[in-house]
Amino acid sequence: MCKHASWSTNLLLLVSLWLTACTWPTLVAPPGQADTTGVGATGLGDPLYPLLGNGGYDVTHYAITLAVEMASNTITGTTTIQAQATQGLRTFHLDFLGLEIDEVQVNDRRVRFQRSGSELAVTPAAPLANGQAFTVTVAYHGQPTPISDDPAVPRSYGAIGWRRFAPGVFVISEPSGAMTWFPGNHHPSDKATYTFSITVAKPYVVAANGLQIDERDHGATRTYVWDETKPMASYLATVAIAEFEVMTDEGPRPRGPRLLIRHFLPPDVPPALVAALRETPALLRFFTDLLGPYPFEAYGVAVIDDASVRIGLEAQTLTILPTSRVAGEQLHELAHQWFGNSVTPATWQDTWLNEGFATYGEWLWVEQTQGQAAFEALLRTQYASMVRAQMGPPANPPPDRLFGAPVYIRGAWSLHALRLHIGDAAFFALLREWVARYQYGNASTADFIALAEEISGQPLEELFQTWLYDDEIPHCQLEVISCQQPGLNGRSMPSR
Ligand SMILES: [Zn+2]
Repeated sequence: MCKHASWSTNLLLLVSLWLTACTWPTLVAPPGQADTTGVGATGLGDPLYPLLGNGGYDVTHYAITLAVEMASNTITGTTTIQAQATQGLRTFHLDFLGLEIDEVQVNDRRVRFQRSGSELAVTPAAPLANGQAFTVTVAYHGQPTPISDDPAVPRSYGAIGWRRFAPGVFVISEPSGAMTWFPGNHHPSDKATYTFSITVAKPYVVAANGLQIDERDHGATRTYVWDETKPMASYLATVAIAEFEVMTDEGPRPRGPRLLIRHFLPPDVPPALVAALRETPALLRFFTDLLGPYPFEAYGVAVIDDASVRIGLEAQTLTILPTSRVAGEQLHELAHQWFGNSVTPATWQDTWLNEGFATYGEWLWVEQTQGQAAFEALLRTQYASMVRAQMGPPANPPPDRLFGAPVYIRGAWSLHALRLHIGDAAFFALLREWVARYQYGNASTADFIALAEEISGQPLEELFQTWLYDDEIPHCQLEVISCQQPGLNGRSMPSR
C-alpha cells in the first residue's frame, strides 16, 4: 500500500498522482541496487536508512540561496546542484521533505517532477548519459518542518533539521534532517562542496560552514555568502541565524597563516562561557599534535541561547551548541572535525567511528592534562558503566539506538582495548594514518580493521569481533587495566 504525504482535492489529479506514485516500486530500482531502466535508485541501501541518498549520480557542489523571513520562519529560495551521472538516467531522485516546490530545472530547462514522501523524482527533458555532468535547480518556498520522528534521535533532543528557536534559527540535521531545508543526495557517502547565500533582515547575522566570502547590504536586509570548499556530508551543513556577536581568535597551523577561529555568541554572554571558548586554541593544539593538521578552513562555535534546546552538533567548521553545553562538549565536538567530518562513516551503521573516536579523544585529553592516575580512574568508571548497563556491540546499533551509550562508551573502550593490544606506538600511528589516508572521504569499520592490521602487523579480526560485534562485554582486569584478548588462550595483555 502506498502512503502519500498530501492529497489534492482535485479528483483527477488525485487519481493520476496515485497511479504515478504507486507504480514507482515497479519502475524504480530498490535502494542500493543497480538499475538497467535508466531510473536512479530511491536510496543507497544504507543498513539503517535504506532510503537516504539516491542512486545514479554523484553531487559535486550545492549552491543554496535562501531569503529568510524571521518573524514567520519562512524561506524562499533555490538550491542548485552540480552533479555527475554514474549511469544512464531517464529519471533520478533527490531527498526533499515538506516545503512547496515552485519549479525544477535540469541544465536550465524546466522539467517534470513528482513527489512521494521524502522522494523527489526528476525527469530531465533528455536522458542523461553515464558520466555526464549536469545541473539541477529546485526553486521552493514555505516554512521548514523539522523531523520529529526519526527513531535515532532521542525525544529529549527535539526535532532535527531547520529549527526556529527563541532568538533565531539553527540547523542540526544528523542523521536525516538535511532534507527539511534543501533537496539533495542526503546520505553521508555523497560528500560535496557548498556555497550558501542567505538573506535576512538587519540586525540578524548569518553563520554557516566554511568561510564568509561576501556580505551585501540591501538597506533593510543583508546577504551573507559562505563557502565550504572542502567536501562535506549533507548532515553537517548548517546555518545559524541570530543577533550574534563575533568573537575571533587564532589556532595552530603547521604551515601558512594561523587558523581562523570565529565564534558566534549571543549578546551579553556570561564570562564563564567566554573563558570556555578561550580554550579553543589549546584544544586545537592538542588534536593537531595527536592527529595531524586541522583539516578545514576555519573553526568556531555558534552558541544557541535558548534553555529549551538540548541538542548539539559538530557541523563542519562550525559546532552548534546550546549555551549550557559549550564548556562540557566543545572538546568532543572538536574531535569530530577529524573523526566524522573529514573522515566520514561510509554508512550510518559505522557511527561508532564518529562517536567512539570523539569520546576516546575526550579520554586522551584527560590523560594528557590530568595524568595517568586520572585516566585510569576514568577507564574504570566507564568500564563499570558499560558492565552495569550491559552495553551491546557498538558497530551494530539498532536504528533507535544510533546515538545510544554503547556507540560512545563501548566504542571508546574498544579503541582502548586495541591500544592495550598493539601498543602505544602502533595505536597512535594508526590514528594519524586513519585521518591522513581517508581525509575528506568516507571509510567503514572494515577499512579501520584492515588499517589496524596493516599498521600493527597483527591479525585483529577476533579482537574487533568481540569488542565491536559480540553481545558479551570482553573481560578486563581493572586494577592494572588489561583485557583478555582473543588468541592468547585467556592470558591477559599487560598494561602499557
Ligand atoms: Zn559526538
